Amino acid sequence: MKKNQVFETVIEDMSEQGEGIGRVNGYTLFVKDALIGDRIEGRVIKEKKAYGYGKLLRILEPSPFRVEPLCPAALPCGGCQLQTMSYERQLQFKQDKVEGHLVRIGGFERSGFSMEPIIGMEPVPGQRRGFRYRNKGQFPFGRGKDGRIIYGFYAGRTHSIIETEDCFLGDAAARLVLETVRSFMEEYKIDPYDEASRQGLVRHVLIRTGYHTGQILVCLVINGRELPHGRRLAERLMEIGGMTSVSCNVNRQRTNVILGSQMIHLAGEECITDRIGGLTYRISPQSFYQVNPVQTEKLYGKALEFACLTGRETVWDLYCGIGTISLFLAREAGQVYGVEVVPAAVKNARENAALNHIANVEFFEGRAEEVLPEWYESHPGKAADVIVVDPPRKGCEEGLLRTMVRMAPKRIVYVSCNSATLARDLKYLCAGGYRLERVQPVDMFPMTVGVEVVCLLSNLNQIS
Ligand code: SAH
Repeated sequence: MKKNQVFETVIEDMSEQGEGIGRVNGYTLFVKDALIGDRIEGRVIKEKKAYGYGKLLRILEPSPFRVEPLCPAALPCGGCQLQTMSYERQLQFKQDKVEGHLVRIGGFERSGFSMEPIIGMEPVPGQRRGFRYRNKGQFPFGRGKDGRIIYGFYAGRTHSIIETEDCFLGDAAARLVLETVRSFMEEYKIDPYDEASRQGLVRHVLIRTGYHTGQILVCLVINGRELPHGRRLAERLMEIGGMTSVSCNVNRQRTNVILGSQMIHLAGEECITDRIGGLTYRISPQSFYQVNPVQTEKLYGKALEFACLTGRETVWDLYCGIGTISLFLAREAGQVYGVEVVPAAVKNARENAALNHIANVEFFEGRAEEVLPEWYESHPGKAADVIVVDPPRKGCEEGLLRTMVRMAPKRIVYVSCNSATLARDLKYLCAGGYRLERVQPVDMFPMTVGVEVVCLLSNLNQIS
């Protein structure tokens, strides 16, 4: 195949990033926006030795899994990779992705563990399944070609902003907040941040809503020490129903990381609260909080089930955020220890234990791969019955896995948002004497290629 060559193919597979995969005379082509089952015409835009990339020119025969996307920006926006695929087929895609990683990266036999059917979102009457689930949005601000202030989402793999007034994954009320910020910026001549020149002030606007409480938190991420006329903006935002917390976060670094470390409180409370499974949680702008509240409850329920507690166990919850899983576990365990690296989240975790009158939990601030080994060194012989981990995408450091194996808990519950690093880490744990028992995917991120997984491992030397 040569660059610019036009080809015809049937898409027979999907990449992990959601691109269609077709073959022409044995040569593999990745085609963005093409769906498994489509017969398409495309043009080669990049060729490598073993495979190439094609651009979708025309759908000659649509896939039976193809559906009309809800969002007009579904194709250019990098947020949703699977919006043109039926929800049922998305679930299949994710199930296959998790199983594929466990087999290819983890080296597990397909029949060696119990692969449970993915827990999808329930349909809501009058709504397309799998939309409007997110409780959080982080909207980049910038300027359009005509010089207007715009906001939206980044296009796939770039930082050019696709103007999106309403994201169909999130709460429609976000628009009112964003329009309030935009008109304030226009009125007071406050510039959005420009990545190329590193000039301008407003980088992102973060909005988070408590699903059960309706409380709204707004945080403007700024490239400066303060937001001029910030009080004026805060007053306007506080008029919006449910508005509970308005703040700025200072981020003056050249970085893709959205939040900086310094906060400026502008109005209302410093945190919002939300509820999951009968517990109340305070959440600061800097704290991690799962984005899909409906599915989170199912995920935590599974983690708790896998932990199989009787009321006496010592349990560690590593990467505990604001202590969500820790408090779920504490209700059924003897003692729970949580470890989290973000100070604002640890503060929330301690507040949340008090708020829910849970006393058998203690939180440590620090990196899990440092806190746990140090604790184990200074408490020789002290055992853990269950260890729960829920690391970010890059997974666990090997030093942490090594300590976990040395501590030899009866069960390890591994919660993951990246099945590739999950598979790598499970391979290590299983080489250290554990057996992978159950794998439960949960669809936390409909319309995207993301999938959450909770796994149960048991210690081969102490099966109870
Ligand atoms: N279990 C929590 C949080 C999971 S997200 C929940 O369900 O809400 C992962 C968390 O790990 C984040 O809060 C992040 O701040 C934290 N984290 C990232 N790297 C870490 C590390 N090396 N040690 C401890 N915590 C870490």
